[in-house]
Amino acid sequence: MSEGTSTHDPAQPEIHACAGLRRVQARLDEALRQAGRAADAARLVAVSKTVAAERMKELHGCGQRAFGESYVQEALIKQAALADLPLEWHFIGPIQSNKTRAIAESFDWVHSVFRLRTAERLSAQRPAGRPPLNVCIQVNIDREDSKSGALPEELAELAHAVAALPALRLRGLMAIPRPSDDPAVQRDSFRRVRELFEQLRGEGLPLDTLSMGMSDDLEAAVMEGATLVRVGTAIFGARS
Ligand SMILES: *Cc1c(COP(=O)(O)O)cnc(C)c1O
Repeated sequence: MSEGTSTHDPAQPEIHACAGLRRVQARLDEALRQAGRAADAARLVAVSKTVAAERMKELHGCGQRAFGESYVQEALIKQAALADLPLEWHFIGPIQSNKTRAIAESFDWVHSVFRLRTAERLSAQRPAGRPPLNVCIQVNIDREDSKSGALPEELAELAHAVAALPALRLRGLMAIPRPSDDPAVQRDSFRRVRELFEQLRGEGLPLDTLSMGMSDDLEAAVMEGATLVRVGTAIFGARS
């Protein structure tokens, strides 16, 4: 679709999705270069919560495959609308126990697991014949009352238990640090997540994923080893 035939409401200030994607990909490329890491060492999950299926389809048309969703009902509707596209679906939102079945049936990744009970349900409800569900454990790295996640001292026991569940594949950690405008403060939180990750690897868990970094802090996350950044606003514009 050319810009001239866009059906977007001109009253809605939104970034053209592909232009936003290219800008974010350029930021990611530059951050990886600055960090001295390989150009493919981190990839982008486009966070499409509240974004219409048509815009996701546009983004797929310019090369994006992985999408992150926070609300199960909304995601299921868009998955049905986009069923003909080979997308990779990441669940990144709060997990209510009455939604674990839908998540286990409909997603490829879940980033927001932090209770063993939730993980056990996801494993039990993953349909036979599907590959294992890829899981990251969410860590409440800055010990905020307002945030979900395992506390650092709870992590090792939880990670070993999750890794033992048959229909899950524990891939790594996810964190959302306390917001800060100071890149040094941002990096300090991400560094502590990476240290926990390295510690678990040292204990024999075969983890390969550090899910950290969003629109405002992806550079700091990449400097500290993020392998997967979750970006919404900088691709799609502000959520209404
Ligand atoms: C919404 C959300 C994002 C994306 O945040 P932006 O600031 O829009 O890039 C990333 N991760 C999680 C868990 C989210 O809920």
